[in-house]
Amino acid sequence: MKVLVLNSGSSSLKYQLFDCGDWRALASGLIARIGEPNGELRQTWLNANGATQTRQDTLPISSHEVGIDHIISGLRASGALADVAELVAIGHRVVHGGPNFSQPMIVDDAVAAEITSVIPLAPLHNPGHLAGIAVARQLFPSVPSVAVFDTAFHQTMPPTAYRYALPEFLYTEHRIRRYGFHGTSHHYVAKRAAIMLGKPLAQCNLITLHLGNGASACAIRHGRCVDTSMGLTPLEGLVMGTRCGDIDPAVAIYALKNLGLDAEGIDQLLNRQSGLLGICGVNDMREIDRLAAAGDERAELALGMTAHRLKKYLGAYSAELGTVDAIVFTGGIGENAVGIRQRACADLERLGIAIDTALNAARESNGERRIHSATSTVQVLVIPTNEELEIAQQAFATVTA
Ligand code: AMP
Repeated sequence: MKVLVLNSGSSSLKYQLFDCGDWRALASGLIARIGEPNGELRQTWLNANGATQTRQDTLPISSHEVGIDHIISGLRASGALADVAELVAIGHRVVHGGPNFSQPMIVDDAVAAEITSVIPLAPLHNPGHLAGIAVARQLFPSVPSVAVFDTAFHQTMPPTAYRYALPEFLYTEHRIRRYGFHGTSHHYVAKRAAIMLGKPLAQCNLITLHLGNGASACAIRHGRCVDTSMGLTPLEGLVMGTRCGDIDPAVAIYALKNLGLDAEGIDQLLNRQSGLLGICGVNDMREIDRLAAAGDERAELALGMTAHRLKKYLGAYSAELGTVDAIVFTGGIGENAVGIRQRACADLERLGIAIDTALNAARESNGERRIHSATSTVQVLVIPTNEELEIAQQAFATVTA
């Protein structure tokens, strides 16, 4: 039995195939530039000897349907999938599930309609997901398509955390509230953290920090999300690669009135030109680290602001949770950026948080690890995320429940 995980964007498709026995990734790949003449198909798979093989092709891929057809043909040719009948489910990443989905859902027409209805809340993501889901359902009607939502894990937030202090009709009539994102990743690392802590997730209080190009923090009490930093959209919260995170909303009003920007211009400004890129002109953390080490003041400011915002959330969530068992760093920056972890956790001994400088800097270990000092009452963990595996396991659990 195997599960195929699809992350379908407006012009791209990423996929991974898992064996449901040992949860090994048997194959993965991506299709880019759907609809353009120079489409790209990249495939990686394990051959019969367990060695990794890769193949890359440039060819026109006119639609998601043609793309998914290529993926299945490639999986067959490589031997990773002998027959589509081996698939017990296709798990689809869906960024926005709106207010009603707190669990993965087998997609039927009603579920597809609900995902469609929240397109205004995720205009860049949900249409691409729906395209992939529609093709999968049409091509493989006997294989259940399971939607796994980035928002689902955060559905346990209480209204005190998810409501905005705005007029009630915006919530009741327009569904404007905080939803949170990266839920699949927060949930995955929380489960791994519980194993490292040696107790059930339902007994764990955690602060999980997913720090990649997009970044979010999550406060988890007794295994359930009680607060998260992203809101109606993935713009709120931490300083991100190109997104501003928390700002005074009056900045948008100022830009509207004084900079001649329309809604699209403000969207670009806050989502694509801000964050690390806006502060120092670069959004790759490795480059920012290099620049700061060479004395670049803007890069230093970007690091300082990123850590300052993280510290604020660590303080706020520590206060909210009362007791914290562990802080978890994950995502490209969380897993690799030694300096950001050090700065974010510096001078937090009063909160019981103390990093061990040597453990934090140990680069030889890329797996799950502890980086706190012996005096730290809060464990500080680095846990590589694996959203695709989490989607595969949730899809499998959904169809076999
Ligand atoms: P993600 O969105 O999770 O893929 O994370 C992307 C971010 O991780 C980028 O800002 C990268 O610069 C950062 N990143 C990846 N590897 C490293 C590394 N070795 N050191 C610092 N940052 C890294």
